[in-house]
Amino acid sequence: MTQVFTKVTAIRGMNDALPGASARWEQLEALVREWLRAYGYRNMRAPILEHTRLFTRGIGEVTDIVEKEMYTFTDSLNGESLTMRPEFTAGMVRAAIEHNLLYDRPQRVYAMGPVFRHERPQRGRYRQFHQIDVEALGLAGPDIDAELIVMVSRLWKLLGITDIELEINSLGQGDERAAHRAALITHLEQHKDILDEDGLRRMYTNPLRVLDTKNPAMQAMADSAPKLFDFLGETSRAHFDGVCARLTDAGVPYRLNPRMVRGLDYYNLTVFEWVTDKLGAQATVCGGGRYDGLIELLGGKAAPAVGFAIGIERLLDLWGQYQPEVALPECEVYVVHQGDEAQRRAALLAESLRDAGMSVIVHAGAASFKSQFKRADASAASIAVILGGDELAAGVASVKMLRAVAQTSDAAQFSVPLDDLVAFLKDKVN
Ligand code: ATP
Ligand code: MG
Repeated sequence: MTQVFTKVTAIRGMNDALPGASARWEQLEALVREWLRAYGYRNMRAPILEHTRLFTRGIGEVTDIVEKEMYTFTDSLNGESLTMRPEFTAGMVRAAIEHNLLYDRPQRVYAMGPVFRHERPQRGRYRQFHQIDVEALGLAGPDIDAELIVMVSRLWKLLGITDIELEINSLGQGDERAAHRAALITHLEQHKDILDEDGLRRMYTNPLRVLDTKNPAMQAMADSAPKLFDFLGETSRAHFDGVCARLTDAGVPYRLNPRMVRGLDYYNLTVFEWVTDKLGAQATVCGGGRYDGLIELLGGKAAPAVGFAIGIERLLDLWGQYQPEVALPECEVYVVHQGDEAQRRAALLAESLRDAGMSVIVHAGAASFKSQFKRADASAASIAVILGGDELAAGVASVKMLRAVAQTSDAAQFSVPLDDLVAFLKDKVN
């Protein structure tokens, strides 16, 4: 009796990247590593799973992420509450504290990888998505805030992305936020009748976040609310001005957005977002800011820090609108063969071509020349090497140029002694 299984599909909001699309990811990741290296940022990796309390403490209880977006479960083996990281910063900071990374100097670090949030999937909003996360740990000045922002603008240039704008704001310091908060609560109390459920719930716990609403009915109330920016003292303003002056030095235009509060609780002073109108509703490609209190909050020795995260799916979507994908060949050289002995020789030959740095596929199994050539063509290899009975008897391989020879006067097919093959092909593969 045969058993019928229903097909298992991917989890909603979690995407596969098949070889064609993944090549694009790898291209971006390679470019990103070079870009970060140019500023002295070094890669580090922390686990995807962390104790839930790291995020509840590090991100804040009254945030979208902690309230409703985390993948949290109980470890059935020991009853601990664990969470799939919804962002990188908390884990990076935890690791830095745990390993005393900042004991003798500040650190510029980055990480890339998947993060998880239980949101409603749509274009640019997934449940497993990926971030490039960059953190400058232990550095306090406006110079470093500006360096990070200028750095991001360089990435847009490297990718040829133009329609993207920088919005910045300052969240000041705790006492300034407290004064603003009192004024804000008064304002919210005056508009209690138009607050939605989230608004009413957060009014006293996190009033600033009430302004971050996407509810159109609350926009006018949010627009007329007292602005945190107006509550900043001299030192906070000087920091902000220092950032702006350096952005101007570097020729990076910015727009002050006094309403920007960012999704996480831990920010202070500079916050920024890069937004575009080319991605529909999911307009933010990069968001970041300063979080001078977080290291101490997570149990480390107090140290300032600033960082940002870029959403890779949104970036790839945007990049594709400027630079269309080009399909990469599966290999440079495709080896076809006929007969058992030729197949075994082909395998060894391919090893020597790989020794010389070439990318080689040997046709697997036995098939007619015609169907092997079809496969060679589909691989987009530029060269086919043919080993048949005649070639073996003569100690040669036939080499067939599959592509891009139309314009040259070169013959399209050659007979090359096996001993000369590596040198011959190295010259043809560029
Ligand atoms: P949004 O306002 O779009 O929900 P956010 O403030 O929650 O964004 P951050 O926590 O700052 O986002 O994350 C940094 C970046 O990660 C965002 O700017 C965005 O590019 C990307 N991002 C956030 N959530 C998602 C998601 N669910 N799917 C894909 N990318 C995302
Ligand atoms: Mg969000």
